Amino acid sequence: MLDLEPVIGLEIHAQLLTRTKLFCACPTEFGAEPNSNICEVCSGQPGALPRMNGKALELAATAGLALGSRVNSRSLFSRKNYFYPDLPNGFQTSQLDPPICEGGSLSFRTADGGTKSARLNRVHLEDDAGKCVHDEKRGVSLVDLNRAGTPLIEIVTEPDLSSSYEAMEFLKKLHALLVFLKVTEGRMEEGEFRCDVNISLRPRGSSQLGVRGEIKNLNSFKFVGQAIEYEIVRQTALYERGEPVLQETLHFDSRKGETRSLRSKEEAHDYRYFPQPDLPPVVVPEATIEALRRGLPESPERARERLVALGLREAQIALLLERVEFLEYFDQALAQGGESGKIASLMEELFLPQCQKEGISPLEAPMKPAFLASLAKILASGAVGRRKIQELFGELYLSGRDPAALLEAKGASQISDEGALREIVAGVIAKFPQDARKYAAGEEKVLSFLVGKVMKESGGRANPQKAAELLKAELAPRGV
Ligand code: ADP
Ligand code: MG
Ligand code: ZN
Repeated sequence: MLDLEPVIGLEIHAQLLTRTKLFCACPTEFGAEPNSNICEVCSGQPGALPRMNGKALELAATAGLALGSRVNSRSLFSRKNYFYPDLPNGFQTSQLDPPICEGGSLSFRTADGGTKSARLNRVHLEDDAGKCVHDEKRGVSLVDLNRAGTPLIEIVTEPDLSSSYEAMEFLKKLHALLVFLKVTEGRMEEGEFRCDVNISLRPRGSSQLGVRGEIKNLNSFKFVGQAIEYEIVRQTALYERGEPVLQETLHFDSRKGETRSLRSKEEAHDYRYFPQPDLPPVVVPEATIEALRRGLPESPERARERLVALGLREAQIALLLERVEFLEYFDQALAQGGESGKIASLMEELFLPQCQKEGISPLEAPMKPAFLASLAKILASGAVGRRKIQELFGELYLSGRDPAALLEAKGASQISDEGALREIVAGVIAKFPQDARKYAAGEEKVLSFLVGKVMKESGGRANPQKAAELLKAELAPRGV
């Protein structure tokens, strides 16, 4: 038996979160009528001239900075030549040398609970191709160019990963970071984050690289894991039979769980890269790079430590770390005072679902962080019950006013006043004497029934804890 170890390097494509394409003003929206979001530039008409999207540049640099890469103040676009029916230019506009970002690294958790870091080779900008749609019924293939020209970054790692577990952990971490930073939406089913896996085997401990297979375009973490496991078995069998591993490009069939050869692997010179003459060098002034660096939010790791120290639940922490604006909103509400746990639970249960329903970013919602903080205080004081807040939340959210005033106006505040409550409690005891006697005799479960009646009599405004206390005091078996 040969003792072989896997060597894995990844090339990740992430669609940048811009409204328009990389070199024209066509929208990048997903799911539009085929060929409705195209123009002379992205459909490759002769003589049409590309113009660089500044936002894409900013996002690529932001990704690089967050990954510890060096941002080049001057980089170049090249033409990478292919012939594909969904590539109208006959070339992809990509960066060879120098790319926008070089170097960097990302650390992730290993199976034994430790951490490991994988080095990055580069982060570069490029445009996406269109899509071929195969209509099997009619026996034709159609071309949809809506996606053509969509901005991507490609992140290339060094061959530093050594198992399917490591590759998946690395990718999950990278995906979460880029989504958190709003560099990409990262919807994997829509291909906004996809990955090519390069994998070879070598004798354990060797420093030389073996011949690799490259599995193209995997769009789920699970498929990445499965494809790697399959390749390890396939390549090991070749080595054991003394047969050569071919350098080839592979496709992963997720239904069969197998890889299959697409073509022998091309080398860089096969693409006849040459400088794209229609685009000037990409220039990012040092001052811009510095401003982007200063504008980087706290890293998710750092933020996590802070949230853990606040005593938030894991589910709440994970939610707040999904998007930088969730965390920003939370921090702004927290700065207004109010208990972190109540703010987080209001965000988790009511506020963020509402924002999502309306497709609005939290910081643009009519309910400002200060209002949510005020609501958290009201909740903590017990002045208004959780149920009532839930019921009125839609209105509170939309009002664009401090919820305290609105709740007051609605008479929603709880009756905590002892005198008023005592009266209602006495009324309930008089109305349900049998149940009252049962409780007094020690049948504890009757209490919730009686509290329910007090709530009903008060039109839902009684403070349930106070009501229970008063009932207990009235009905407690006296003396022993
Ligand atoms: P190409 O652009 O032709 O695919 P690169 O040299 O840019 O080739 O490498 C692409 C990816 O493949 C990188 O992530 C790199 O780390 C990885 N890689 C290169 N050689 C090997 C190898 N022998 N085994 C595993 N991964 C490799
Ligand atoms: Mg490659
Ligand atoms: Zn266009």
